[in-house]
Amino acid sequence: MPAPHVADQAFVTLATTDAYCMGALVVGKSLRHYGTSRRIVVMVSPNVSLEARRPLEFVFDEVLQVNVLDSGDRAHLSWLGRPELGVTFTKLHCWMLLRYHKCVFLDADTLVLSNIDELFEREELSAAPDAGWPDCFNSGVFVFRPSLHTHTRLLEHAAQHGSFDGGDQGLLNSFFSDWAVTDINKHLPFIYNLSASAFYTYLPAFQRYGYDAKIVHFLGGVKPWHCSFNPQANQDSGSQLDQYVKLWWEEYLRQTPPTVATPDPRELSK
Ligand code: UDP
Ligand code: MN
Repeated sequence: MPAPHVADQAFVTLATTDAYCMGALVVGKSLRHYGTSRRIVVMVSPNVSLEARRPLEFVFDEVLQVNVLDSGDRAHLSWLGRPELGVTFTKLHCWMLLRYHKCVFLDADTLVLSNIDELFEREELSAAPDAGWPDCFNSGVFVFRPSLHTHTRLLEHAAQHGSFDGGDQGLLNSFFSDWAVTDINKHLPFIYNLSASAFYTYLPAFQRYGYDAKIVHFLGGVKPWHCSFNPQANQDSGSQLDQYVKLWWEEYLRQTPPTVATPDPRELSK
């Protein structure tokens, strides 16, 4: 018998383009594959096509349309002069999911490799170190508590200070600025946000600990949906990254439920 849903906790992802919907679909499918007992939610922006949205509806408990500029409050108006923060602001909408008490945000370019429901034991803001600057957390995977108050403060912070990297990671790190020095429980192990760059920057550590990876994060400009599916990539040939890309494609192509056709990748990955 499947585990009952823990209805006030959810995994959340985001897609603002049809291509990122391919990634979101894999996030959803891989969470289901490993039998999460939590709700799974995807936020999409209005420009996402019906064709890209439909398969999400079969996999996710909720497909929520989020409008970045849906309110006339002061923080939004100040933001209007900062178009580069658009996607960042869309991600911040996750703090508005007030029907949930605790959530785990997963970037659409992540792949779940095991049941990760234990992440709900962590508190806001828990995240793994960024491989490029480990005193910063990587914002591809984080535990948070939806709250109107926090959402407003984040928007105000963004409007006032912007983001030091132009994206959500800079903003969230400057907002949750004590992450590096306060509570070690808020430091997720790196296996919950294993970035591809770690394979070549510290190969021995990857060989020692990587077998236990729970979430792979395809961060950077080249996403799995930009790569072709290589069914031949296996243990003996191909790089570690190739093997994860292969797993990503297997998850993408898995038919769940069997009656729903997965969209033709050539249509969505443009
Ligand atoms: N995202 C999106 N549309 C975009 C860019 C980003 O929906 O055009 C969302 C998506 O969930 C993505 C996240 O924002 O995973 C962060 O962007 P990305 O993963 O590309 O950044 P990286 O992890 O490579 O720094
Ligand atoms: Mn990412």
